[in-house]
Amino acid sequence: MFDKKRFMVTAALPYANGPIHIGHLAGAYLAADIFVRFLRMMGKDVVFVCGSDEHGAAITIKAKKEGLTPREIIDKYHVMFENTFKSIGISFDIFHRTSSELHHQTAKDFFMNLYNKGQFEERESEQYYDEEAHQFLADRYITGTCPKCGFENAYGDQCEKCGSTLNPTDLINPRSTLSGSTPVLRKTSHWYLPLDKYQVWLKEWINTGKLDGAELHDPATWKPHVLGQCNSWLDGGLEPRAMTRDLDWGVDVPSEIPGSDGKKLYVWLDAPIGYISATKQWAADHNRDWEPYWKDNDTALIHFLGKDNIVFHCLIFPGILHAHGEYILPVNVPANQFMNLEGNKISTSRNWAVWVHEYLEEMPGKEDELRYNLIKNMPEQKDSEFTWKGYQEVVNTELVNNLANFFNRVVVLTNKYYGGEIPDFDMEESFFSSSDPDMDTYFDSDIIHLYDMLSELHGHVMSFDFRASLKLVMEISTFGNQLLQLNEPWKIQKSEPERVAVVMNFALQITAVLAVVTRPFLPFASARMHEVLGMDFSEENGELVDIMGKLAEGEAILPAGHKIGEPIHLFTRITDEQVEIQIAKLENSKSASTEVALADTFVPLKPEISYDDFARMDIRTGKIIKAEKMEKADKLLVLTVDLGFEERTIVSGIAKHFSPDDIIGKQVTVLANLAPRKLRGVESKGMILMAENAEGRLMFINPDEDFPAGMTIQ
Ligand SMILES: [Zn+2]
Repeated sequence: MFDKKRFMVTAALPYANGPIHIGHLAGAYLAADIFVRFLRMMGKDVVFVCGSDEHGAAITIKAKKEGLTPREIIDKYHVMFENTFKSIGISFDIFHRTSSELHHQTAKDFFMNLYNKGQFEERESEQYYDEEAHQFLADRYITGTCPKCGFENAYGDQCEKCGSTLNPTDLINPRSTLSGSTPVLRKTSHWYLPLDKYQVWLKEWINTGKLDGAELHDPATWKPHVLGQCNSWLDGGLEPRAMTRDLDWGVDVPSEIPGSDGKKLYVWLDAPIGYISATKQWAADHNRDWEPYWKDNDTALIHFLGKDNIVFHCLIFPGILHAHGEYILPVNVPANQFMNLEGNKISTSRNWAVWVHEYLEEMPGKEDELRYNLIKNMPEQKDSEFTWKGYQEVVNTELVNNLANFFNRVVVLTNKYYGGEIPDFDMEESFFSSSDPDMDTYFDSDIIHLYDMLSELHGHVMSFDFRASLKLVMEISTFGNQLLQLNEPWKIQKSEPERVAVVMNFALQITAVLAVVTRPFLPFASARMHEVLGMDFSEENGELVDIMGKLAEGEAILPAGHKIGEPIHLFTRITDEQVEIQIAKLENSKSASTEVALADTFVPLKPEISYDDFARMDIRTGKIIKAEKMEKADKLLVLTVDLGFEERTIVSGIAKHFSPDDIIGKQVTVLANLAPRKLRGVESKGMILMAENAEGRLMFINPDEDFPAGMTIQ
């Protein structure tokens, strides 16, 4: 892959109906940013594109909810995305948007091309139509009762209570969210991409890298979970997928196609074409040709994204590109898995997230601290977790104690001993203790060691192993700290100044290497190091090739006599208070969202009853003294309950929530005069009263521990 002439790198287009959180950064954007910055620093020709994904029903729904137009929603989030990405140092060459005229035209042309080639199958189906609003209803515009769990506000594509995937026609009592009316089924026709016909070549291309005899990629370099997800779809059999929708917000189906009226492109057709239109806009802005980046076999196309987008980028988009015929296919899709937060899945609707724009406001100047944590815990092969305590620990021990400490010491000592000038020395004569006992203790041998570390770094980055890359960068800093620790220049400066000059010269070369290699990971700290060391911090353009060339020759990066600046603290400690504020903020959003969830799901009150109705119930305190599972009934427990004046057998449907051992000895409340009932042959006399919450969790209504059994409750 590295031998390709140019690189086309994309990062998943964020959907313009909510801000960016740390899971997004860790999933797609940081990985892409490190990769691209590294390539540029290796002198490669690379274009890095992204943009806002601004179509689809979710945006119109959000607009309705907030009383805004879809245009106002996308403008709001587009500006927010641009600012957030820029502030956290994601170095896109262009951040485009799918609402642009250029994109609409590009997507339409693409559709027209496939249409003219006869790639689509036109099919008729029945879909819900709102007769009052005069429009077909996207899945999210329909709510109704979930057939699986009975939740009354399930969406047409998913029940948010039980998580089931649904079709709109599965819903019981469907309602239109536009007018509240009951929608009717109406015939509509759409253009389908016959993925079933692509199945064979997609399977071969994914798993062998070969297509029509050409070797296009090496599947051994693909992440196992990416291949696994693709193959699980392929094994299930691909089905034709509709590429158009009946919507009023999106890219129009080209008007020259009969029956196109009121039809829009499916957002998952339109969005990845956004990478192409972004490249076109970039090319126009820079007077370049966009086509080689998408059509020349000497280009490596690489898509960065989170695991929820794998299928679209590995099967559907390649299917579309290949059907078109002029486009290259990706050589890799290094998708990441998910990052969780403090023990829970990140959730936008429950506000369980660290929003990047809020982080930047609340932790000003700490962009790299967040980047470092997210890269260190990047969910490259499996889901990972972010915690604020972990964040604090990592910043304080690794960034402050290791990197910042080394950099500061070197700059302080250089200013103290040499007035801020890189000391000269006689390479033939001088020696110092190396961290590697097997190595010759000469300056040039350790320089080669540094070179080897950079080669290893290159290997990690090219295999999308960014955690290992970051670790290696920190090992270079550790190497520097060990050099100072082993030689203790502050103890021998008076007695052995020649030796100290070698040590300090080499330590300075390490700081220079660190200033350069931290750039893809910690670009802000890298800029500060460049400034202090008096190094040029311009566009990323081949500087790694430059320093690796020097190191390979045993040459210094900072020549003797070069003047550096005053010492600085690259990073400062994160205090307990800072992380406690963040944790408290999360806890608040948790309780707030629980309240909202409960308010949404309160069961309606039953009809009023008289006092006499109530007085007829005999409710008593009791104590469970025995509990057993009922055979062949996985929900039922047979309980023996002490009511003080007698022991009762009560059968209770709580076996899924409680095990017998957990509840023996529990104080309970019992409806004691309920007519006996036989359950699976066992007579149950009475009922244990329980509370049930919105998630279906049960709780005993228990009297105080010291309250005896048999007392009446009224
Ligand atoms: Zn459900």
